[in-house]
Amino acid sequence: MKDSKVGTKAVWAGEKDYLVHGATQVPVVLSVAYGYDDMDEWYDVAVGKKKGHIYGRNTNPTVQSFEDKVKILEGAESATSFSTGMAAISNTLSTFLVPGDRIVSIKDTYGGTNKIFTEFLPRQQVEVVLCDTGDHEQMLKEVAKGCKILYLESPTNPTVKITDIERMAKAGKEVGALVIVDNTFATPLNQNPLSLGADLVLHSATKFLGGHADALGGVICGPEELIEKIYHYREINGATMDPMAAYLMLRGMKTLHLRVRQQCENAMALAKYLQTEELVEGVYYPGLETHPNHDIAKKQMKDFGGMLSFAVKGGVDTVRNLLPKLQYANRAANLGAVETTVGPARTTSHVECTPEERAAMGIPEGLIRVSCGIEEIEDIIADFEQAFNFIKENELC
Ligand SMILES: *Cc1c(COP(=O)(O)O)cnc(C)c1O
Repeated sequence: MKDSKVGTKAVWAGEKDYLVHGATQVPVVLSVAYGYDDMDEWYDVAVGKKKGHIYGRNTNPTVQSFEDKVKILEGAESATSFSTGMAAISNTLSTFLVPGDRIVSIKDTYGGTNKIFTEFLPRQQVEVVLCDTGDHEQMLKEVAKGCKILYLESPTNPTVKITDIERMAKAGKEVGALVIVDNTFATPLNQNPLSLGADLVLHSATKFLGGHADALGGVICGPEELIEKIYHYREINGATMDPMAAYLMLRGMKTLHLRVRQQCENAMALAKYLQTEELVEGVYYPGLETHPNHDIAKKQMKDFGGMLSFAVKGGVDTVRNLLPKLQYANRAANLGAVETTVGPARTTSHVECTPEERAAMGIPEGLIRVSCGIEEIEDIIADFEQAFNFIKENELC
């Protein structure tokens, strides 16, 4: 297993220890508690001297199998999981931050993460410094002043900006910061932040890992010593992953490499097609040579991911007319699913901002985010073509 390719690991890893009765699939253990007749054994498990389970808020075999699979895909020593991606982020930050600490991050983190930075951490007397995403000089300057945590996300939502993880992780280490990377957009197949020097890597498992938009979850991987602390915070505070969700994640992850491979291929082809469409003003995809940090993306990613965005001429009005014409796309807020999913940035990732704030962040009102699905790309391109033609024929922009 150790030397096998990542796709083989996605299918097999993390399951063997949890199979029972000769079953070939990991069982969903819904039991909340675990019984012991031997009081000494119960005690030993309860205090962590012996392996085993006590109570579902702490550990569960189905959930552990999920954690093991992700840990192996990220090349990590250990992993712990959560009810959602946001729980992974908030619990991790709360595990390490105390009043007076300083955290450096970027302006384009996921909307919920940005809310933690701007709304919740300041009221706990944590100083939050948010740099312009992709401005490495500014980030290096802020990190050099010292910080407890350097928090990164790459690529970002919705304009898929890229941060040089290796360069920033090195700078973070020099000041003793804990370097955390949200790897949701890239997936463990395309990017492994731990091998680039990060201390911790996390995912909203709701997205590509699960892949079917039918279960919520989060997971964080890293060295045992750090994961132990995060696990302890989570087991007490209670944002535990549901065993049924863990099962859906395990099942989803068996096809992770097939799905993501197709999603990357579709994203590249769709991005190239969109560049030729006269109603499109700009296409954002790290796989395009026109992307400002394409070189960094090429260096740290195996492939460029299934997420892209593009801006249309005519702004919101064009968006309003264009998106309902698409046959093969859900108009929804999630991403990473097998179906292509589209949404305006002003409604999805940056709904909390004013138009002025969005403009300041370089997010045009006519920006559309696309999470490419696994459909046949010819159909997806034809679908976009007919939608654009409808707009042009009816002079709707
Ligand atoms: C969705 C998402 C999250 C939050 O995950 P939930 O499972 O919705 O709580 C965090 N980071 C990124 C990049 C995301 O896309």
